[in-house]
Amino acid sequence: MPRENVPLASLTTLRVGGPARFVHTGDSMESIKAAAAHSRSCGLSLYPLGQGSNVLAGDAPIDVVILKMETNELTFKPDSDFVEVIADAGVSWERLVQECTEQGLWGVENLAGIPGTAGAAPVQNIGAYGAELADTFAWLECYDTATDMLMRLDAEGCAFGYRESRFKHEPNLIITRIALRLARTSTPKTSYADLQKLMDAGELLNTPQKIADAVRRVRRVKFPDLTQEGTAGSFFKNPTITANAYEELQAKYPALQGFAAPSGIKIPLAWILDHVLGLRGYREGRAHLFQNQPLVLVTENNATAQDVEMLANNVSEKVFAATNILIEREVRSLK
Ligand SMILES: Cc1cc2nc3c(=O)[nH]c(=O)nc-3n(C[C@H](O)[C@H](O)[C@H](O)COP(=O)(O)OP(=O)(O)OC[C@H]3O[C@@H](n4cnc5c(N)ncnc54)[C@H](O)[C@@H]3O)c2cc1C
Repeated sequence: MPRENVPLASLTTLRVGGPARFVHTGDSMESIKAAAAHSRSCGLSLYPLGQGSNVLAGDAPIDVVILKMETNELTFKPDSDFVEVIADAGVSWERLVQECTEQGLWGVENLAGIPGTAGAAPVQNIGAYGAELADTFAWLECYDTATDMLMRLDAEGCAFGYRESRFKHEPNLIITRIALRLARTSTPKTSYADLQKLMDAGELLNTPQKIADAVRRVRRVKFPDLTQEGTAGSFFKNPTITANAYEELQAKYPALQGFAAPSGIKIPLAWILDHVLGLRGYREGRAHLFQNQPLVLVTENNATAQDVEMLANNVSEKVFAATNILIEREVRSLK
């Protein structure tokens, strides 16, 4: 039986949001299909939810059927120099990283410490410290609520981009399992500045476990403690701008870095928030930008979605006024 009128503040790490009409637990294929059938019969949309670590839910009651993914099988299939790791959508991402790095498998160590589920990882093609899900992705299975069919997709079929995939645009696709292809042989990615600094200081980052531990240590400084405060991590995406626009900005701010990206030059928004706008700690109501990393939005006790909206909108306006860049949110809205 679904639960009724469940506050989304209790299901999301930003800890804001009004009641969702129905919440189903998806712990098997049957329960996932049952939730889809219920949403059809009551004419409400079905919304898959993992750990709610990338969702901003509105304050008003929301007429929606939430499907909380809680399937939890994780299996390893050896294949010469590689191992195929198959995870149910509800498996915690951090559990996946821990079990893979413990076995000495390479490919997800830089993604240690990211909250959430394996099933949500393809949605925004999670990435951090010079790696992203797409690097080791093999295939996934999804249930299409429009056709009542299961589909298997490879990386091309998922249309991955920077914090992007087709799942952001096709809410009828519920990811049920994902598979990664991880190497047994050494493929370290340690060129990211924070990791390079540790190596320069003499740390030996020569196993997946050591890299994962180092990444978790770096992250503890950059993100608030989820047990104490609300957050969804980076609230905005780093913008990608044209080479001309980058040249103009760099003439004004010579220290602004730029990184070649498929559709232009990607620039670090945190640098703009900090050095151009001085927005570290900037506050609206009970929401503020994190002192240690201004791309991260933090909610305090009794914060509302309206506090978050006000803060995020003001930040967007200030960035536009100073740089002419329209920034995009990384966090998904549910209203
Ligand atoms: C402290 C902190 C640090 C973070 N750091 C990073 C980081 O370094 N890099 C990064 O990329 N992200 C980061 N994030 C964002 C977040 O952890 C990821 O986006 C994560 O993949 C979300 O997983 P989730 O299970 O919580 O998804 P949710 O927040 O529950 O859902 C996110 C979106 O995915 C959809 N979805 C969820 N499950 C499924 C499914 N099975 N099928 C189809 N759609 C689904 C939802 O409908 C929603 O639109 C961070 C978040 C926090 C709180």
